[in-house]
Amino acid sequence: MVNINELTALCDELGCKITPECPLSEYTTFRFGGPCRALIKINSAESAARLLRYADENSVRYGILGRGSNILAADEGFDGIILLFGGDFANIEVDGNRLRCESGALLSYACARAQQVGLSGMENLFGIPGTVGGALFMNAGAYNSEMKDVVVSAEYIDENYEIKTIGAEDLDLSYRHSFFSDKNYVITSVTVELKEGAPDAIKQAMNECMAKRTAKQPLDYPSAGSTFKRPEGDYASRLIDVCGLKGMSCGGAMVSEKHSGFVINKGYATCADVLELCGKVKEIVKEKTGFVLELEPVILK
Ligand SMILES: Cc1cc2nc3c(=O)[nH]c(=O)nc-3n(C[C@H](O)[C@H](O)[C@H](O)COP(=O)(O)OP(=O)(O)OC[C@H]3O[C@@H](n4cnc5c(N)ncnc54)[C@H](O)[C@@H]3O)c2cc1C
Repeated sequence: MVNINELTALCDELGCKITPECPLSEYTTFRFGGPCRALIKINSAESAARLLRYADENSVRYGILGRGSNILAADEGFDGIILLFGGDFANIEVDGNRLRCESGALLSYACARAQQVGLSGMENLFGIPGTVGGALFMNAGAYNSEMKDVVVSAEYIDENYEIKTIGAEDLDLSYRHSFFSDKNYVITSVTVELKEGAPDAIKQAMNECMAKRTAKQPLDYPSAGSTFKRPEGDYASRLIDVCGLKGMSCGGAMVSEKHSGFVINKGYATCADVLELCGKVKEIVKEKTGFVLELEPVILK
């Protein structure tokens, strides 16, 4: 049971904003999801550690959210608290060729900061709409670049509420997987190392990347990006395409006509609609091609 008065007092002491009964549809790019008992905007690693300890000591469930751009939030909501790593915890420090980013910083903002100071290596990641923490958790990537190529270390809160540092060699980064994938740890900062480059050339590469996204992706509809992971040996979008599933709908969820790898929200989709549609897509793709598709977004319930 969440004791809102007690939690509000703790958040006041820590200087964190708290919203009781907060609809998750407002904090996820798919724009659906019922309420959590309270959403707390994290402002420091220490505040996060205090709140995690409070949650454990009081048997309160918690979930971690960045930009919510790879999340399917359940229609019935989340019976616990959500710790949001966003704009209140988003400082980026430049130190030589390195950027140390608090985990709530937007990945695209980190890319833009690197460009400003003439650091190259993150151009292809520009336009991925997540936070740096979420990007490390997922080992986000695009156009033959991924977080793995640039991360040198990260800080996280461990099971004893202590802040630990982990080096790239232990991060276990592979396709949409990291050391954090099957753990309850909370990433508080990510340090990337880049190479010197000409700001104009970096800017041009970033713009080209964004232009490709705008041309190919249904960015005018809410979604969580690619709905399925790339199966070994093929592309989910190609398989969905050859099965003739573009435009297939369940309720307000539809396989995008523009990019069949995306399920989009036509405006009134529920989480149940998306899961039903994904289930049907998986079934037909398996039947017709033999490939087993796996959901990429994380279900928050
Ligand atoms: C239009 C669109 C395009 C996209 N394009 C791409 C793309 O090109 N490549 C790609 O890889 N992805 C893409 N995505 C998916 C998504 O943007 C990435 O997976 C992104 O890295 C998720 O970051 P986030 O901050 O939104 O994380 P969230 O969606 O908030 O969370 C994702 C997971 O990470 C965990 N998490 C988040 N922050 C932390 C933290 N600080 N500590 C511990 N765990 C944490 C959450 O608990 C959750 O399990 C796209 C999404 C959209 C909507």
